[in-house]
Amino acid sequence: MSDEKGYTSMWQTLSRLARRGGTTLALVESERRFRNAFDASPVGMGLSDEHGRFVAANRALCELLGRGETELIGHSAADYTHPDDLASHARADRLLASAADGVVRLEKRYVRPSGEVRWAWLTVTMTAGPADRPWTLAHIQDVTDRKMAEIALRESEANLTAVTAVVRRIHGGEDARTTIVDAAKQLSGASLASIFEPDRHDGLAVTATTDGRLRALRLPLDEASVVAQVFLSGEAAEIPVAAQHPKIARTLLAEYGTQSMCVYPVSDRTQLVGVLAVSWSEPLNAFNDRATRALALLADEAGLALQHERMLRNLELLAVTDDLTGLPNRRGWELQLSRLMAAAKRAGSDLTVGIADLDHFKLYNDAHGHAAGDQLLQAFAGAAKMALREVDFLARWGGEEFALALPDCGQHEAAPVLDRLRTTVPDGQTCSFGHATWDGSETPLQLVARADRALYSAKAAGRNQIVGADPNIPA
Ligand code: GH3
Ligand code: MG
Ligand code: MG
Repeated sequence: MSDEKGYTSMWQTLSRLARRGGTTLALVESERRFRNAFDASPVGMGLSDEHGRFVAANRALCELLGRGETELIGHSAADYTHPDDLASHARADRLLASAADGVVRLEKRYVRPSGEVRWAWLTVTMTAGPADRPWTLAHIQDVTDRKMAEIALRESEANLTAVTAVVRRIHGGEDARTTIVDAAKQLSGASLASIFEPDRHDGLAVTATTDGRLRALRLPLDEASVVAQVFLSGEAAEIPVAAQHPKIARTLLAEYGTQSMCVYPVSDRTQLVGVLAVSWSEPLNAFNDRATRALALLADEAGLALQHERMLRNLELLAVTDDLTGLPNRRGWELQLSRLMAAAKRAGSDLTVGIADLDHFKLYNDAHGHAAGDQLLQAFAGAAKMALREVDFLARWGGEEFALALPDCGQHEAAPVLDRLRTTVPDGQTCSFGHATWDGSETPLQLVARADRALYSAKAAGRNQIVGADPNIPA
């Protein structure tokens, strides 16, 4: 480095002159030139005595350390060295004493009075001080920006690897929400991570969490909580001191010892679908960039995973839905009937099944056309659904046949319900119903077959009526 050589030779000239007792004028001129070169150098320079104490520091070094020269003189560079680098600072001193070429190079961190940490690359050279005392000259280059870029690169590679592992687990069939909250907690060293999603009642509900106690948590969708605020605004919130934040519940702080918190919006690329909330039980003075970047990546991944899941759910829904009426189709009926039978068994309650068939529908089609027939099927589906309770289950069983399950309904309670439905067929048309109440042991197929036989009786008896199957008496 030319500065290094230039300064050293200047210092040597200066020392030689001093030793020879050269003219005062020459000495003064030499010192002036030396001082100018020293100060003008863009590289930090510090001259230290045999005790390691600064005797001179140039402007670039003062800038790097964030202190004036008068403050530095008489102090050791160790006083401004990052505590984690004190050992390598001491080692460099020892190495310098024994280095063959009298030069040592090292990288270390300094701490400015503001607490800011700067990375520096040092070249330290032995130089003869007055009376040949072993002084040192250090050239100190601020390499913070390069170092930060290096660290950021390493961290983003590590984050990418971690997120890739998460994606692989999700694609491998693991539950997306659980995988994401687990990874969020682990990657950021947090104590708690949860996903909130909108629920049916205009609120936000926890759909995955690393702490079971939060599983039932619901928040109103208003500006009162940080979580809801992030969902409404789509802007992430990073809160180093949770206790000072007006929108974090005191109960959360107390019960979970929350000190710092981050909340990220989760978007499926078209809309916000939830938030990822992470909290730490120790205070984070300055947010760890790596942790927050990893969390932002995970929130992004959560959006894709939830979108993927919604697509699958829609496909599944499509597979069990009838196009024309929007009611569940035969497949949907079979799935739901099994569930309702299992629930009735658990609760020890009644379950009645009804099968409806429009009367003379072929004639209706012939008279009004197939499109009108379609409309009649749609209108009947809508009207029948309106006449039912929310717990009742209506499906399109076949062409002009509908299946109905009435939980908690015995034969006697079912009859008036079905009779009411019979009158909801639009355009002056009618239908016939057969119904059967589950005996608690027959299979879904057997139960439906019994209702179907009762329907056949209703048709045979003249249509536009309901017929209950005889109680099932095992042969
Ligand atoms: P019944 O009173 O004995 O039930 O007489 P029906 O004419 O209703 O019975 P049938 O089994 O003879 O005819 C059923 C008719 O339902 C024939 C068929 O074209 C019609 N159908 C079935 N599915 C659809 C549909 O999706 N749209 C329309 N428009 N008609 C349908
Ligand atoms: Mg039919
Ligand atoms: Mg019919």
